Amino acid sequence: MAYGLLDDLSEERISGVQLNYYFICKRKLYLFSKGITFEKENEDVKIGRLIEQSYYTREKKNRMVDAINVDGINFEDDVLYEMKKSSKNESSDIWQLKYYMFYMKHYKATIISKGILRYPEEHRNVIVVLTAADEAEILKILEAISVIIKQPKAPPVIKKRICRACAYHDFCFI
Ligand code: SF4
Repeated sequence: MAYGLLDDLSEERISGVQLNYYFICKRKLYLFSKGITFEKENEDVKIGRLIEQSYYTREKKNRMVDAINVDGINFEDDVLYEMKKSSKNESSDIWQLKYYMFYMKHYKATIISKGILRYPEEHRNVIVVLTAADEAEILKILEAISVIIKQPKAPPVIKKRICRACAYHDFCFI
């Protein structure tokens, strides 16, 4: 596995949000990576924050570990938590959590045996593990992200259903 690539990427550590956006929309990834953000003003994002604040209040939350902002870590049980408002982007949520586990392993020398993806509004948890195949895939994804964010121009608008609830909607369409 080409872990030497991690050295090349180490100066520009990719955040979990960037990895998530890679799956959702390359344009969103690009704009966010250039510091163009609208998340604070967006109603969906505000609702997501309120949900996060109202569940699991006794757990420590939002641990910033370098470039990643983890919703919760239990070091005794080697478990990492991530909470989401809805499962509409479940696949990218799973990859984000796998990336957190990858990050802890390769940048922080800490093995996390399991990730728990929480959808409290749906009363549902998804257990996530990191396999060797996932690690190889994450390396490819990091390389692809690195290429996208170095482009001179933003990728085109994708015109999909997700655009309606996207924080960048007005920026892309108006
Ligand atoms: S509005 Fe659509 S095209 Fe624009 S960033 Fe969001 S998802 Fe991408």
